[in-house]
Amino acid sequence: MTTNATPRFGDFHRILFFTGAGLSAESGIPTYRGKGGVWTEYDYEDYACQRAFARDPEKVWDFHDKRRAAVARCEPNDGHRIIADVQRERADTAVVTQNIDGLHARSGARDVVELHGSLWRVRCDRERVVRDDVTVPMTPRQCSCGAYWRPDIVWFEDALDPRNLERAQELLLACDLLVSVGTSGVVYPAAELPRIAMRSGATTVEINVEDTPVSALYQHRLRGKASEMLAAMR
Ligand code: NAD
Repeated sequence: MTTNATPRFGDFHRILFFTGAGLSAESGIPTYRGKGGVWTEYDYEDYACQRAFARDPEKVWDFHDKRRAAVARCEPNDGHRIIADVQRERADTAVVTQNIDGLHARSGARDVVELHGSLWRVRCDRERVVRDDVTVPMTPRQCSCGAYWRPDIVWFEDALDPRNLERAQELLLACDLLVSVGTSGVVYPAAELPRIAMRSGATTVEINVEDTPVSALYQHRLRGKASEMLAAMR
């Protein structure tokens, strides 16, 4: 169902995909809100904030190892693949994601702006080192300096990396087509970003299985699974 004719990728030059947990739902990764959501089972204050990590890094790592193991079993879906294909076909296509699962990169997408970090990167805040790490479970948990490696994820109460925010803002300002895919639009400050493209005159599309609190801001609302709605825009 659409508000009017579905925009086609071929009619635009600088496409920006702004993606959220709903894009990875078809890969079997639960979304943030709703049934099966990870935060209905676990309290973030015990597992996903800097305070919890300072208090009990082993407990926080046990939890993140479980998340890594669950995501490692999942594969990119057709939605991720269509986005990577569009990026291959049109050089000026960018991806800004709120997801931490790494599925965009695994489907072949390039230069993805990961606003909320990645499950597959760790950092040592003492030595100011960041590195990729795909071991499951993540070993060793401590850096050679003795401090614990920390998942390079924007946890609850953390600020976004200003460099990522700036890059995302530039891309949103420059795009002529914004396609938001599978995001509830309520996690700030990420949720504010699409407004930049709206203000600068881009054509805007929201893909979701249902209406969201920000649906009315989009010119086109495509209702259905991410992979099917993205296929309809080819
Ligand atoms: P959200 O859970 O708040 O919203 C998900 C949205 O996707 C909902 O509006 C839902 O209606 C929609 N949706 C569900 N299945 C869909 C499908 N098959 N096709 C299209 N839409 C579908 O997620 P958010 O807006 O991304 O914000 C949650 C925060 O938690 C973000 O930081 C996010 O990165 C993080 N998170 C990440 C992952 C991941 O990396 N895969 C998973 C859960 C949460």
